[in-house]
Amino acid sequence: MTRFSVGTFSPVADGVFVAVAEPAAVNIGLVVGPSGALVIDTGSSPAQGAEIRASAEAFAGVPVVGVLVTHWHYDHFFGLAGLAGVPSWGHEGLASWLGRPEAAEAAAELGVDVAELGTPVHTFSLARVLDAGGRRVEALHFGPGHTDTDVMAYVPGANVIFTGDLLESAGPPSFGPDSHLKDWPSAVDGILGLVDEDTVLVPGHGPVMDRMAGFQQRAEISAVYGQAEYLVRQGVRQEQAYERGEWPFDEATVRAALPLAYAELAAAGLVPRTQLPLV
Ligand SMILES: [Zn+2]
Repeated sequence: MTRFSVGTFSPVADGVFVAVAEPAAVNIGLVVGPSGALVIDTGSSPAQGAEIRASAEAFAGVPVVGVLVTHWHYDHFFGLAGLAGVPSWGHEGLASWLGRPEAAEAAAELGVDVAELGTPVHTFSLARVLDAGGRRVEALHFGPGHTDTDVMAYVPGANVIFTGDLLESAGPPSFGPDSHLKDWPSAVDGILGLVDEDTVLVPGHGPVMDRMAGFQQRAEISAVYGQAEYLVRQGVRQEQAYERGEWPFDEATVRAALPLAYAELAAAGLVPRTQLPLV
């Protein structure tokens, strides 16, 4: 039985708060303006989305006037229907994921009916300015990375960036079949290009990060693809790659990333070839 819960909102900057929603320990953002608040990510089910809305309004003392989804994964997206009637935003690719087996599988595991999930009313491909009750929030898509629907949210006055799962501090980044390994570092570069030494980065999961932590994780993600490319050029096949490589992450994380790395390299024409001994 999946255990759903929403924690209390804690401040990360002036008028910007984060609560953790289970079962996925996902960070739910709240940007409070003079006349309303914006929720960032929606939790794992419509019921949880409704709970987040109620909790945010009780906490902030203003209505929730907007909600932004950072990417299609269930723990960020599946609560959206619980905020019905609230103007919603997300990447234009979000809706198509609900029709795919990955979403159906995640919904079945949670005991959620995929037909009851909502999609954002407003979508965008690159950038959108959102109004958090009189406070400006900018949502940007820097290309595919963790998924092809990643958007980050920048709160200029507070110097806070919600990164979605492009960055994580609860553990290593989450590599899946829907990730874009080679492009991921460039998407993080989009975020890192906006930060200064005081910027607060709110990852999809885990405590807030600073600029240095962001740069380090960017380098580690990049190193996974780089190492895989090196191994392929050495003729090392995917099955041997973990043992033969030097990796910045734990075994399970690397093993999740390797099929992706090898598939992307193969698509670029790079496949391991047996090296014939020189005569
Ligand atoms: Zn994710």
